[in-house]
Amino acid sequence: MLLKAHELPKVVNGKNVPQPDTDYSKVPSWWITEPDRVRQHLESLEGVEVEEIGRTAGGRPIIAAAWGPREILPERTCNTVAAAFGASDSSAYYGKGQRQRQVLMLIGAAHGTEFEGTLAALNYMNIIVTGKDLLGRPQEAMAQEGRQLRFILIPFLNVDGRERAINQKHFIGTGLGDNLNYFGLITQGLFRNGDVLHWPQSKLYQPMTEDRFLYFGSYVNDAGVNLVYDCPLGPDMQPESAAMIRYCRREMPDCVILSHSNGGSLVEPAPAFVPSHFRQYSAQIAALVGMRCRRAGLARHGIAQPRHSIFEGMGFYQSDALYHACGCLPVLVEFPYGYAKNPDSHEALLDIGLNVIDEIAAFGNRYGFRPRDPSK
Ligand SMILES: [Zn+2]
Repeated sequence: MLLKAHELPKVVNGKNVPQPDTDYSKVPSWWITEPDRVRQHLESLEGVEVEEIGRTAGGRPIIAAAWGPREILPERTCNTVAAAFGASDSSAYYGKGQRQRQVLMLIGAAHGTEFEGTLAALNYMNIIVTGKDLLGRPQEAMAQEGRQLRFILIPFLNVDGRERAINQKHFIGTGLGDNLNYFGLITQGLFRNGDVLHWPQSKLYQPMTEDRFLYFGSYVNDAGVNLVYDCPLGPDMQPESAAMIRYCRREMPDCVILSHSNGGSLVEPAPAFVPSHFRQYSAQIAALVGMRCRRAGLARHGIAQPRHSIFEGMGFYQSDALYHACGCLPVLVEFPYGYAKNPDSHEALLDIGLNVIDEIAAFGNRYGFRPRDPSK
């Protein structure tokens, strides 16, 4: 029986279980990060289609919400990019001609409590439909940009992880000093011997198992799997990965934002196994997004740093899987969660998230997300 964060005892094996230094369930009313409330809000928006695209390992529904007409180009004769590229004709996969609208998708919370990107995307969807964000602030320029797209949101890929720590509604000020242990506990987990698991050692347990861990952090699904490192090439892939890939192959998004949270390094380097022209677009988008936030005067903790080892970043990652499955440009964004109180307000977190999504949307609307095939 998997424990939830709020069900943990105060002492395990003689060791004190880290406690919160403040009430992290207190948030502004517009700060919506619970799967059922997010779904309710999306279903209330006119013109937004909400559907269930699969179930998690724990049996919870995974939903997707879409705005804007679906457009699949004609004369597709290949159902994989690999086959089309094998004959040097990408249109055999993507279809002939150009889409009227770029399709931008955001997949949120592969790590269950990394919900800041989801929150921003929920606001972005609200802006597209109503012209206002959830604080009621008019966002006309963003609305105009967003309405040129088909915009799709999978708010929580790892619903199990989100529900495991459902009372954790924000992380502003965590991850530093005394509450580093609390942050590790909630997000990464607790060994049966009472020790807190920390990042990145948590990645050494794939899957996490109940004989070793008393509490799985919010990082993994109910099968103990960190979904970004799932094996989407094999028959034993997790149901979340299967749902994501099936849906992306149907929708054929031009760009997928994979949303995560850290100190706020924003757009990360491209994954290892995508073509060089896709990597170039990733780098260009990263620079644009970074400067956009800087010019807007929004707090930023740092930029993406070099890897820890020569092997890190060389695995076949979720972003690689998405590219090979549906031909999209994958863009992994690390939204800020308020590490070291930088920034220190929910409104500032939202503003950074909105600026990031809007800048990526603007890039797609101007240039297209996928580099054009020079032979076409
Ligand atoms: Zn993450």
